[in-house]
Amino acid sequence: MTRAEMEALGWDSCDVILVTGDAYIDHPSFGMALVGRLLEAQGYRVGIISQPDWQSAEPFRALGKPNLYWGITAGNMDSMVNRYTADRKIRSDDAYTPNAEPNKRPDRAVTVYAQRVREAYPGVPVVIGSIEASLRRIAHYDYWSDKVRRSVLFESKADLLIFGNAERALVDVTRRIAAGENIKNIRDIRGTAFLVPQGWLPDEEWSVHNSTRVDVPGRIDTHPNPYAMAQEDTKACATENAKPEPEVKPVIIMTREQRQAAAREKAMKTVVRLPSFETVSEDPVMYAHASRVFHLESNPGNARALVQAHGDRDVWLNAPPLPLAMDEMDNVYDLPYARNPHPSYGKAHIPAWEMIRYSVNIMRGCFGGCTFCSITEHEGRIIQSRSEPSILREIEMIRDTTKNFAGTITDLGGPTANMYRLACKEKSIEESCRRLSCVYPTICSNLGTDHSKLIQLYRKARAIPGVKKILIGSGLRYDLAVRSPEYVKELVTHHVGGLLKIAPEHTEQGTLSKMMKPGIGAYDEFKRMFEKYSIEAGKKQYLIPYFIAAHPGSTDEDMLNLALWLKKNNFKLDQVQTFTPTPMAMATTMYHTRKNPLKKVTEDSEVVETARSGKMRKAHKAFLRYHHPENWPILRETLVKMGRGDLIGNGERHLVPAWHPSEENGTAQAGDRKRQGGMPQPHQIATVKQRKPEARPAPGGRAAPVAAAPERARPSILATIKTKPKTIRK
Ligand code: SF4
Repeated sequence: MTRAEMEALGWDSCDVILVTGDAYIDHPSFGMALVGRLLEAQGYRVGIISQPDWQSAEPFRALGKPNLYWGITAGNMDSMVNRYTADRKIRSDDAYTPNAEPNKRPDRAVTVYAQRVREAYPGVPVVIGSIEASLRRIAHYDYWSDKVRRSVLFESKADLLIFGNAERALVDVTRRIAAGENIKNIRDIRGTAFLVPQGWLPDEEWSVHNSTRVDVPGRIDTHPNPYAMAQEDTKACATENAKPEPEVKPVIIMTREQRQAAAREKAMKTVVRLPSFETVSEDPVMYAHASRVFHLESNPGNARALVQAHGDRDVWLNAPPLPLAMDEMDNVYDLPYARNPHPSYGKAHIPAWEMIRYSVNIMRGCFGGCTFCSITEHEGRIIQSRSEPSILREIEMIRDTTKNFAGTITDLGGPTANMYRLACKEKSIEESCRRLSCVYPTICSNLGTDHSKLIQLYRKARAIPGVKKILIGSGLRYDLAVRSPEYVKELVTHHVGGLLKIAPEHTEQGTLSKMMKPGIGAYDEFKRMFEKYSIEAGKKQYLIPYFIAAHPGSTDEDMLNLALWLKKNNFKLDQVQTFTPTPMAMATTMYHTRKNPLKKVTEDSEVVETARSGKMRKAHKAFLRYHHPENWPILRETLVKMGRGDLIGNGERHLVPAWHPSEENGTAQAGDRKRQGGMPQPHQIATVKQRKPEARPAPGGRAAPVAAAPERARPSILATIKTKPKTIRK
């Protein structure tokens, strides 16, 4: 946004100015657009400064001084995840930037932007939000600096941090600042965090619980015998026995609802004190304990406020925000978005926009609780769904207004494809629940798993004139899907475009239990249904499973077993990912502390094996791409170290060849192509083809036979799929 645009709108100033690390795309999938439209609907003038040059304060003065406050966001992703790979290497592109240009945002963008806006206009309140601020709200392990960092409130010096679904808190904060309230006095809004002097409490009715009371049971007193006579106490003297009867207190029998209401009342005035920043940065056990307590206090129905000391100050976290009701979700998504990137980007290609321009977000939140993912910590475990009419309206809007729409909606989804309108059977049970997942270790008996509302939505969406195809691109919770064969049939028959991506993430129970993912048997069950319904529909369709390498809990043996499973099932994966320890995820706690926060944490509690060294992580990743010659040297070395040299050879039962012409062939060709910028020359191919297998020492020094003639390679099932060549952009 520019001054000229402000003038065209007749604005002499903005009430709120948002600074974001993403390109400005006016669509509800982008945080800054959603917040901007939401505040605009409340009557405020909102300016947006997108991807400013952070080297000086000048670009932050572009729209003048905001009347109420600065709103700072790193964008839709944490800036460190956005800028660095899982191997801590700088990325060469940025999906949220025009033409995917890298380096348009700084490392730790929330902190850097907050510093610059203070320099630009000192004294204006600073409010930070977005996933980066949200997931760094307490002391947290930071993978990129390999240390525990303080809450982002300290580094950014922000006045207020808004975490989770921010709509309610934002509107409330804005109204109160506009009404003249000092931001430093706004201390009672759910979903906000701020710094206070150590020991501060909102009022004298509040009490403090040490976090160990949440996690570790205290001394257990023996039950008094209700039939015991005072005289039975032989040690008691007659004088004591003769004491007057204590005052009789009536026993009040409360209903479950009354008990829950009383507990809620008490919880509302209780703060749980976590171990301090200084303690968790030095003691991994206390870090894991703090992480566990933090996650146990995440249900808006029963979560208490949290407090954590950093030196002589406390970070105070109010209870998480209440989820939005369906009509509130509709209001947010029905706001008048332009549904386009800002016109100043011209024809620039913005990958994140291309990905979602024909897709519709139907819900928020996830009750899966996968430990490597932070969606639950950010969006919550309670599913917030839009109404059917609101979703159908958006599809029609895409049909009528989105450029180049050819009739295909690329996704009707959210964090998970098939949690739309699923919830706990009873509100009161949900409000008192402290489980970390509704579907792990088993699907909770209180969870409603009826997919009929989603099926109905798919059917109505397909019937919209001008819509030829509705695809489902969001990840599927397949253990849940198999509870509704009708849903799987609907999905497979109408909504799969040849390939369906699903994420078992691993095959081995040890690792899956650390991920809080279902066993591979659930995948097999879904696969059977998928194949059956594909045949019935007369369609040739395939499942593409996704896996994570080097996840905490995954040993070399686990990765080897996964590779053997892939080989047995003839999967040759191209895209694989290595575990990235993102802030606040439970798996990150395992990575950093080697403790399992899914259970009570003590000095002696379970140790979680974790691949931490670059070499081990590389070897784990190589197992997922066992078929690629570039990975064979490290796999041979690892297999020999594991005592599994028997898997090296050129037979069908081997995982990697002892030697194979294609290994050198592939390397030479790739190298030459790189150097010459084109295809290899015929003589180079001939040279490689003419080379004969020769005796070479096997890894580990053992004699290896001359490599057998390679057996005929089975094509990967993925290679049998005909895909359209990608259109080349001009
Ligand atoms: S009782 Fe079960 S379904 Fe309900 S919130 Fe808890 S885990 Fe989820």
